Amino acid sequence: MRDVTDAAIDALRSHLAGTADLHHAAMLLHWDQQTHMPPHGARERGLAGGTLERLAHERTSDPALANLLVAAEQAGEDPGLLRAVREDHERAVRVPSELVGEMAEVAADAQGAWEAARAGDDFAVFAPFLRRHVDLCRRYAACFPEAEHPYDALVGRFEPGATTASIRAAFVGLRDGLVPLIAQIAARPDPGDLTGPFPVAEQRTLALEIARTMGYDDDAWRIDEAAHPFMANMGRGDVRITTKEEEAVLAIGLFGVLHETGHGLYEAGIDPAWDRTTVGTGTSLSMHESQSRLWENMVGRSRALWSHWLPRAQELFPGPLQGVALDDVLHRINVVRPSLIRVDADEATYCLHVLLRFELEVALFEGTLEVEDLPAAWNARMEEYLGVEVPSDADGVLQDIHWAHGAFGYFPTYALGTMIAAQLWEAAHVAIPDLERRIAAGELSTLRAWLREHVHRFGRTRTGDEILRDITGGGLDPAPLLRYLHEKYGALYDL
Ligand code: ZN
Repeated sequence: MRDVTDAAIDALRSHLAGTADLHHAAMLLHWDQQTHMPPHGARERGLAGGTLERLAHERTSDPALANLLVAAEQAGEDPGLLRAVREDHERAVRVPSELVGEMAEVAADAQGAWEAARAGDDFAVFAPFLRRHVDLCRRYAACFPEAEHPYDALVGRFEPGATTASIRAAFVGLRDGLVPLIAQIAARPDPGDLTGPFPVAEQRTLALEIARTMGYDDDAWRIDEAAHPFMANMGRGDVRITTKEEEAVLAIGLFGVLHETGHGLYEAGIDPAWDRTTVGTGTSLSMHESQSRLWENMVGRSRALWSHWLPRAQELFPGPLQGVALDDVLHRINVVRPSLIRVDADEATYCLHVLLRFELEVALFEGTLEVEDLPAAWNARMEEYLGVEVPSDADGVLQDIHWAHGAFGYFPTYALGTMIAAQLWEAAHVAIPDLERRIAAGELSTLRAWLREHVHRFGRTRTGDEILRDITGGGLDPAPLLRYLHEKYGALYDL
């Protein structure tokens, strides 16, 4: 016979399992939409996803969940799980289900408008949808009247605990360090690109060979093509990454796979105790992005990794790579070149693309910028931060899908994650003194095990801030990223 204690925990876990199942189904719909669904399915798929989201929201805001939490706490449920679920509940009860449904519906319509606007380079086609998203997000923010800044509530959807002020403080330090570094690099000779062709089948072979040493498991993972690569997880036994390969450019497919594998390792490394609960996933988007960026850039584009893998790459691509020296390959896969498109940006300029979006989003919700003035404001900042002239809105303000989804508050997590990656990278070198030697020997499992132990296994039962403080003794800090970039690019560009 089971006692009351177990029953209370079982009741909470069973409620969470139902919600986790809805997230599971929504993730699978999303994965299918981005990989296999014919384009005309977009609207119905958007609505179906919206229904799942609304159902999950109803479960999370269910008053019965509050009672289950109290009983489970008395029964000794894990405090980290209780905290995360309580936060979800308290957030959800503030937001009416109708608003959640309306946001999903506008997103379903806005995606088509955004695609048309981008294809025709006509911002005016998208602007009315963007205005509706901004209005809905204002209504969402108004559900949290105690917030210091209306944007805080929007960021909180993706980055619990972060505020406009805390992000701004970190970004100012980052921008002041990055802008002069990029100017210094721009004054040096450009090393050029690795020139192909790099047949895509061999690209996939190389990417998967490296990914398997990271922890990609053929029995629990799969890889497919998608126009905008991402990772989708349906539990630890079903991790799906996506990629896009171009024959002319090795870097897009190869480093894209390492990036998404980094995301997948996070999900695959979560303690099985949190399976089928709402805490069995990454703790925040920034912590997630720290994992992908660490593997993609700090490991993937490093001298140590290429000293091991270059001979194999030369075997697979004898035409373009035979006889090319390690130094040349390294410089060319780490070329810094201010450019228009965020997703194609190099490691040094990437964060400036994100800062620009953050500043524009904050201005929209402070009421100092109107939707129709976005293109001009975008172009002015591109010029100021990156010295790049924007030739068209399609390659400017219309380039990302996030605003079509109404995902204001999402962008900052990319730069926060990049900063956290550098903080973890420094800490990993202290914890594993021979880390570089191991990577150069093709051995990545020690790093993976360290990340699993200190980051992955907790899922959402620890906040990103708690994880970072336990590892580094401090909070978010742009200094390690600036140190890392100065050291790496100082050597590559002879600064
Ligand atoms: Zn990512």
